[in-house]
Amino acid sequence: MAKLLICDRCLLYAHNPYLVCAVHLDGVDGDSCLDFREDPNAEPEGGTYYNGELIVQPQQRWTQQQKLELLDWHPMFTGRCPQCNGLFDRDWSARVHWDCKCGWMDDTV
Ligand SMILES: [Zn+2]
Repeated sequence: MAKLLICDRCLLYAHNPYLVCAVHLDGVDGDSCLDFREDPNAEPEGGTYYNGELIVQPQQRWTQQQKLELLDWHPMFTGRCPQCNGLFDRDWSARVHWDCKCGWMDDTV
């Protein structure tokens, strides 16, 4: 079937292996489509549609991985300074700034 590259970003695209779109069931001739309508929701940040399913790019998984690593060392979660391992004040869960007296400064939040 003559699916175009722009079909992935079109409101009318069917995301269906048996038809191309709601207007041109078998696709269009040439390399452009008169009925193309940009879909503002297509291609979400970091993801791509493939056979109608959202495939998340490795970059997005890496961001998730970084979040998980943050859980392991950030004083917001551990209550300790990652540099000197000193405990923050008891009310550390209500803290906004995470600058330690040893000189460590938080630059992630
Ligand atoms: Zn410290």
